[in-house]
Amino acid sequence: FGLPSIADLDPSKLIITLTDSPKPLPNPENLVFGTTMSDHMLVASFDPVDGWSAPEIKPYGPLSLDPASTCFQYAANIFEGMKAHLRPDGTPILFRPEMNVARLGRSADRLALPPFNPNALLELIRKLVALDKTWIPTAAGCSLYIRPTLIGTRPALGVGASDRALLYVILSPSGPYFRKGPTSISLLAATQNVRAWPGGTGAHKVAGNYAPGFLPQLEAAKLGYDQVLWLLKETGEDAKKKGGWRVTEAGAMNIFVVLSREDGDLDIVTPSLDGTILPGVTRDSVLHLCKAHTDKSKKLSLPGIPPTQKLYTHEITFTIADMFDWLAQHRLLEAFAVGTAAVVAPVGKIGFMDHPSDSKSKKEKVRPIIGETAQELAKETARNGIRDIILP
Ligand code: PMP
Repeated sequence: FGLPSIADLDPSKLIITLTDSPKPLPNPENLVFGTTMSDHMLVASFDPVDGWSAPEIKPYGPLSLDPASTCFQYAANIFEGMKAHLRPDGTPILFRPEMNVARLGRSADRLALPPFNPNALLELIRKLVALDKTWIPTAAGCSLYIRPTLIGTRPALGVGASDRALLYVILSPSGPYFRKGPTSISLLAATQNVRAWPGGTGAHKVAGNYAPGFLPQLEAAKLGYDQVLWLLKETGEDAKKKGGWRVTEAGAMNIFVVLSREDGDLDIVTPSLDGTILPGVTRDSVLHLCKAHTDKSKKLSLPGIPPTQKLYTHEITFTIADMFDWLAQHRLLEAFAVGTAAVVAPVGKIGFMDHPSDSKSKKEKVRPIIGETAQELAKETARNGIRDIILP
């Protein structure tokens, strides 16, 4: 790559072919996340000789790919998730999309997929959304979910970087991610499976990060939990200093906890971007909003929080043991998970079970229960060896 003669992604070359059989628009009441697709998609391909092809908007439909393609064999796949809404005047608006196209660029880099101009991709996404703008649902809690995807298409089995790729963007009108609506979600902390690790790909939106989470997710669901709370066991010096399990992410969402302070203000805590955490756009937005609430020059006050109450944000490493300590100190006020699809999901309960092989003795296998409500609920879940942190 980097040869001057090969073409970059170029919106001025866009070819548009409209569908001759538009689909009926869905009833927003029946929208299930990610199951309905709009009429059109954007497609562009890359090959090492010519670079990026002229991008095309065409009717939504199947792709034809060589079965030996790197995407099928070695998971050379990356994606993004972003949203469009309609302004009251009827113009479509994207939420911080420059962050998504930049993250897609970093993911492409990480998997040695061909680079592209992120601004060009954003311009093409805007054109696609404008074309399918009738697919943006206006009902409360609904939006048009945008899924840019880049896959390796080198048609050969040799294990190595894909020098060919297909970039496509599909649009899915979506209702609320959690069918239960605004009620809280429950998380089961995973000690047997790890989502991401130092030096891995946790900070990138690569497809290979997700499939290994499906079995733990099913197992959590069997035990009555909505999502997995991903942990990372502290090792080396960190283990001596802090011990226990580092809290990283919740399902496909970033996690926050809210702690009370002696001065009446609040600490808003989220894991730091240490390479194992996806730098979420929603995470960044929450941090910005909390800082703006506290910085009076910004003249922004978050609804439901007294304007005089300060929100101190902390991007730090913290463990399940810290959460139990905060609970014991009556500081742990709430936890919430955030992401484009789910937006903000309050967490009502976190279940935690030490794997027996990680404990000094069988007796110590289960963490103590802290908090009266937790004691009540723990009776129900004790048979599974799980103890729950119940959030107020
Ligand atoms: N963590 C993971 C693992 C995710 O897949 C997502 C969804 N992109 C998030 C966090 C939230 O990121 P964002 O707010 O950018 O959607």
